[in-house]
Amino acid sequence: METASSAYDWDLVVVGASFAGAACALAAAQYGLRVCVLERKADPGARLHTTGIIVKEAIEQTWLRRVPDALVQRVEHVRMYAPNLRSVLLAAPDYYFMTTDTPNLLRWLASELRASGVALRLGQSFTHARREGVGWQVEGVGRARYLVGADGATSRVADRTGLGRVRDHLYGVEQEFAGVVLPEAGALHCFTSRRFAPGYIGWVAQNPTGVQVGLALRHDPARARQPDREGFLAHVRDAVGLPASAQAGATRAGLVPCGLPDGPITAPGVILTGDAAGIVSPLSAGGIHSSWRHGWTVGDAIALHLRGQGPAPEGVAAGAAPRFRAKRVLRWAMDHLQMDWPLDLALQSGAMRRVAEQIYFHRRGMRV
Ligand SMILES: Cc1cc2nc3c(=O)[nH]c(=O)nc-3n(C[C@H](O)[C@H](O)[C@H](O)COP(=O)(O)OP(=O)(O)OC[C@H]3O[C@@H](n4cnc5c(N)ncnc54)[C@H](O)[C@@H]3O)c2cc1C
Repeated sequence: METASSAYDWDLVVVGASFAGAACALAAAQYGLRVCVLERKADPGARLHTTGIIVKEAIEQTWLRRVPDALVQRVEHVRMYAPNLRSVLLAAPDYYFMTTDTPNLLRWLASELRASGVALRLGQSFTHARREGVGWQVEGVGRARYLVGADGATSRVADRTGLGRVRDHLYGVEQEFAGVVLPEAGALHCFTSRRFAPGYIGWVAQNPTGVQVGLALRHDPARARQPDREGFLAHVRDAVGLPASAQAGATRAGLVPCGLPDGPITAPGVILTGDAAGIVSPLSAGGIHSSWRHGWTVGDAIALHLRGQGPAPEGVAAGAAPRFRAKRVLRWAMDHLQMDWPLDLALQSGAMRRVAEQIYFHRRGMRV
């Protein structure tokens, strides 16, 4: 049995206190491991780059079921719009999403980490780590038996430890309208448009504190194209009933991995999880649930292994990383075949509805 020995200051150092990092640290802390989490932001709820929509499975089957009610709002429908703004309302029996007060959700996660005995170091960046025996010397932190990179789409842990990097991304940006309530607040409004969101969609979401209006498109570093936020807003404003007086406040923006890393996500003593490992649906760009699940699996596997009750966590982590094979085919189609006119013509057809239901509700849908 491998012991969590005193040769190390920490059994586990996790970089990143967002969804994947929090899940990994919480799972390991349940076994009494000495866990340190580094988060470069002083306030975990600041400078967000996620809409923060959580699927039903994550809310019902993970630690996120404990999220305080005030931080979530139930959404049971998707209103899907063709480029010409004709729309269809989709729903699925017993299925729902939760939109969130995301800044406070991440602050709540930080408080859960601390309550579980995790040493959370806010405002401390991971800079470098070098191998020491079977573990790592992490700069500014000490010796760690395991190092986990949950530090997002441009992972420095991957860079410094020679692991694979994700090179293929979408770029998403959204504006917040605090205090605004939409006439149809119980629906997530999704817009297809080759002009505004080539390769992806635009969206308008009601959350517990206001409305988020966003769009995402293919990220091409060679031909950086700024999303036309103002044009998109003008396009959708009347369709969703966003008042003319509503003023945009904070902006959220970031990269969404939509390809696999170009190398391994593990090496002895170091593991990537979440966006750092490309664990995001390449089609829906949803990564909160998959990041959480994988992060938790990694923390759990590290703890079991250190207690002599499980196999090497590096293998568990690599095996548990979803490949999203079918969704990658659809991603290719979105990238290469997207045209507006078929959607304008066929949005309300049965075939189109089934595709939409597959994406949003895992095939359980019905039109209402
Ligand atoms: C605009 C946009 C909207 C999205 N909306 C949704 C959605 O509604 N639902 C959904 O399921 N998914 C959504 N996603 C995807 C989802 O947000 C991510 O998949 C998810 O946040 C991944 O979690 P993570 O913990 O792996 O990484 P991240 O959330 O990226 O967290 C990484 C953390 O690491 C920290 N960090 C980075 N570098 C360092 C360092 N060197 N030292 C210390 N800390 C560091 C960061 O500050 C951050 O807190 C969206 C993405 C974007 C860009």
